[in-house]
Amino acid sequence: MAEPDDPLSSLDALPDAQRIRSRKLVGDIASLVVDATGLDEQARNALERDLRSAALELPGVAQARIALTASQPGRKLIAIGSGKGGVGKSTLAANLAIALARSGKKVGLIDADIYGPSQPKLLGSDDKPTAEGDRLIPVAAHGLHFLSLGQLVSAGHALAWRGPMATGALARLVEADWGDAEYLLVDLPPGTGDVQLSLIQRSRPDGAVIVSTPQDLSLIDATRAIDLFRKTKVPVLGIIENMAGYVCPHCGETSDPFGSGGAESAARELGVAFLGRLPLSAGLRSASDAGTPPAAGDGPEAQAFARLAVKLLEALDTAAD
Ligand code: ADP
Repeated sequence: MAEPDDPLSSLDALPDAQRIRSRKLVGDIASLVVDATGLDEQARNALERDLRSAALELPGVAQARIALTASQPGRKLIAIGSGKGGVGKSTLAANLAIALARSGKKVGLIDADIYGPSQPKLLGSDDKPTAEGDRLIPVAAHGLHFLSLGQLVSAGHALAWRGPMATGALARLVEADWGDAEYLLVDLPPGTGDVQLSLIQRSRPDGAVIVSTPQDLSLIDATRAIDLFRKTKVPVLGIIENMAGYVCPHCGETSDPFGSGGAESAARELGVAFLGRLPLSAGLRSASDAGTPPAAGDGPEAQAFARLAVKLLEALDTAAD
């Protein structure tokens, strides 16, 4: 979305404007990230040349850096984000990926949460990926394949990665040998930092799902995450509300420790789809801790994740139209 004082906003009038994924001017250097999906060599060169000369004509621009990216044909990359940590983003990413795989899709899952890579634990697999040359080969678990930043460092080592180290490691995971995977889900770190931006710029997700708990504070952060995806033109597929409502396992009474419905009304206000909600559930937590993801079982939670997976695919279809 053009901001009134954005000196590069006039690039929006160009015929190729819809391919521009991000743009910024630092000093007199304009940097553009451009989606060249589907273009042959000649068309890529023409696109780069046209954008460069258009940028150089703008006042205050002395240099133009154009980065062309292209998504893997036919493979959908879906980012799972949240405004803050602890809202259940990783748990949902794992179980949604399993639900998609159970519906017959070929699914890969990337754990890019540098602050707490938890997919090996959630999926109950300590296997390390092998490599062919420099290319990692993902690990199989619960009918999908996955890679985690946690597999690249030895257990117990804090991942105090920032900037280039983290983004370089993430690029290795995305560019791994995903074979015939149709969907690649990426469990992002919470917030809107380097890792999120680098994924958006280099890999151009086909859509993003935002996980939030119902309370206001979590939703304010979720709104920031939505803003980032919107500004970089990644379709926001919808919000999932997690930990909404609690059914007491002893007396059966339902209570709302974090409130309920907050994410649904926020989604409405923000003009984003609401994909569904999951209750706060002691069973979900203990199964997750034990590495036996509920989506792989046959209880009501498996059905809830299957419904969410259907919604996700519908939202992805709508976004692609
Ligand atoms: P995030 O990735 O957002 O940091 P996690 O997926 O790691 O969050 O979840 C944080 C904690 O909350 C974990 O212990 C997880 O088992 C628990 N949790 C997640 N969703 C639920 C839920 N619906 N009910 C109960 N516990 C949950």
